[in-house]
Amino acid sequence: MLESVLIANRGEIACRIIRTAKRLGMRTIAVYSEADADALFVRMADEAHLIGPAPARESYLQIERILDVAKRTGAACIHPGYGFLSERAEFAEACAQNGIVFVGPPASAIRAMGLKDAAKALVQQAGVPVVPGYHGSKQDPDFLRQKAYEIGYPVLIKAVAGGGGKGMRRVEKAADFDAALESAQREASSAFGDPRVLVEKYILAPRHIEIQVFADQEGNVVHLFERDCSLQRRHQKVIEEAPAPGMTPEMREIMGKAAIEAARAVGYVGAGTVEFIADGREGLRPDRFYFMEMNTRLQVEHPVTEAITGLDLVELQFQVASGDWLPFNQDDLEIHGHAVEARLYAEDPEKEFLPSTGKLWALDFPEDEGLRIDTGVQAGDEVTPYYDPMIAKVIAHGATREEALSRLAEALGDTVVAGPKTNVAFLKKLCEAREFRKGQFDTGYIDRNMEQLGAAPQAADPESVRLGVLRLLEHDFDLRNYRSTVQVGSAETAWDDHDGFQLAGPRRQGFPIKVDGERTEAVLEWPDPSAHHAALNVAVRWGDGVSHLIEDYMPLDPRGFAMTDDGVIVLREGRQTRIAMYDPFDIDLEHMDGGDSIKAPMHGKLIALFVQPGDRVEKGQRLAVVEAMKMEHVLIAPADGEVAEIAAEPGAQVAEGARLIVLKTEE
Ligand code: ADP
Ligand code: ADP
Ligand code: MG
Repeated sequence: MLESVLIANRGEIACRIIRTAKRLGMRTIAVYSEADADALFVRMADEAHLIGPAPARESYLQIERILDVAKRTGAACIHPGYGFLSERAEFAEACAQNGIVFVGPPASAIRAMGLKDAAKALVQQAGVPVVPGYHGSKQDPDFLRQKAYEIGYPVLIKAVAGGGGKGMRRVEKAADFDAALESAQREASSAFGDPRVLVEKYILAPRHIEIQVFADQEGNVVHLFERDCSLQRRHQKVIEEAPAPGMTPEMREIMGKAAIEAARAVGYVGAGTVEFIADGREGLRPDRFYFMEMNTRLQVEHPVTEAITGLDLVELQFQVASGDWLPFNQDDLEIHGHAVEARLYAEDPEKEFLPSTGKLWALDFPEDEGLRIDTGVQAGDEVTPYYDPMIAKVIAHGATREEALSRLAEALGDTVVAGPKTNVAFLKKLCEAREFRKGQFDTGYIDRNMEQLGAAPQAADPESVRLGVLRLLEHDFDLRNYRSTVQVGSAETAWDDHDGFQLAGPRRQGFPIKVDGERTEAVLEWPDPSAHHAALNVAVRWGDGVSHLIEDYMPLDPRGFAMTDDGVIVLREGRQTRIAMYDPFDIDLEHMDGGDSIKAPMHGKLIALFVQPGDRVEKGQRLAVVEAMKMEHVLIAPADGEVAEIAAEPGAQVAEGARLIVLKTEE
């Protein structure tokens, strides 16, 4: 067995690898960036070494620095996790050259599967069905448009170097082809440094079904069944499960064989995933599935396979990397029950899933049999803008699909997370969605049901505001006894009585608050001091003077709240509402210049600016593009007007909320 391992990754996957390595008695060596100095995986590892500043290309992608640490610490092997260097053939080679075992396939296999066009050609030769289309080297737009016509619309343009759902465009008709090609190429160049694309048939009612394969160095290859990853948004996986609903033993065997052939075709070793797309219009059929790509690494969703097989895939990876044979044959493997994984992300479904950063004021997961939580953060940690904003993977296992989904939905409902906005309520709704429950879904399911899943802008929740204000009051006053409240309230507090004191009848007092950053006022109505126990009323106004009356005070359930440095976050029905006190005498620079500021929606990089000072713009016009994490965000003019000021240069890193452009708008 290998004595030690360096984990060339971060976050949940680094924690997950460390856990197995420790169980196997291996010494664990972490490498980390400045942004991760206090991260959980750094604390979990036996030793940890700083390799550079926060941006991945200056730390987690620095092959030389990582190898330096490996040599200095005498690491027997390097596990690359997923993402980062996991599919970089030159990294696998560099490990080998330095006498360090790379926990993954040979560099030649990574290279062979690295480009989607070459991979398709290769597995096609091995007899594996591929999506019909053009995956040759010609890139001339006229030629590709002709090919699209021959393939038949709709088609999918795909970056050959693509990954993470980037560089892909579905095209419905010939008239749209040129524009789609251009934008796919642009995205591919900027994301992968390679503009080349392939064109293939867009499969209808598509189901993403992938096969986990495992191979040892002796040429034994098995498959560990399938995973269904059809619940996707922007071609990225949201919920994954195993086995696939509607899968038959016959089809499983055929797909498993095809995956094994694909792995054999490149001399594969270790854990890998062969991704297929199935035409689900008439259910899953053995003659209607096609190879898309092979991911030559451990997959994010591997825990569902572990749940149904009882295997530890990371342990198997170490065994195979150290030269052991696979400890089983295909016939020894069986499926036990059903498992589902949900990816909990720091993102805001109400704002088009914009990644959300910041401190995790609260983070708490339920514990239960059949439930597994893979996370890399704890309460008090920060979700930074530098890396993938995944907070955790929540995995539920049950005897049946129904049981696994119910368990997952319940676990998501019991998950407490406060600070960054998250998709927890969205995930829960997905688990409960009727068609999905019945196994009637394809990769378009989420897009078709956005609103029902709660992924649309929603107004502030008055009940949350009421609870938040009460929680803030409760924090300072004993609300069970209004008499003492009145006494304290009339003494020196932040909410000193500004308006008329009345000898009889209720007394009112207003104080300024912010609800999700919007200024408003809460008006507290103290009960009539002559009554013994009377209702404590709080009215909150915001927007156009809407006010909500509040009924009797009841002691609050502390699990519904997370205190922050300036107030409280109310957690209700999977939504977070942030209530903060503010000082009304603070000068509000933002609203002083009479213009409209266009601000960075998040921490990221300004990658394009389409206007200059003095330009006239129309409402809805594109002004700039900010790139952050995995997405590009287009900033548009909120109204007609003139550009008064440009406050950032293209290429600049911009902080969330930073003013980029000032518009003089016309009312
Ligand atoms: P999979 O097919 O395994 O689900 P994805 O493409 O959805 O793979 O996710 C892999 C992606 O995860 C990488 O492309 C990268 O953007 C992101 N990633 C890489 N490293 C990490 C990490 N340590 N934590 C979270 N996400 C990561
Ligand atoms: P990536 O490297 O970004 O993961 P894939 O080739 O695996 O790229 O495709 C990502 C997703 O796009 C798939 O999971 C699937 O939902 C969708 N997709 C890919 N190819 C097709 C196709 N030919 N028809 C329909 N959907 C497709
Ligand atoms: Mg893929």
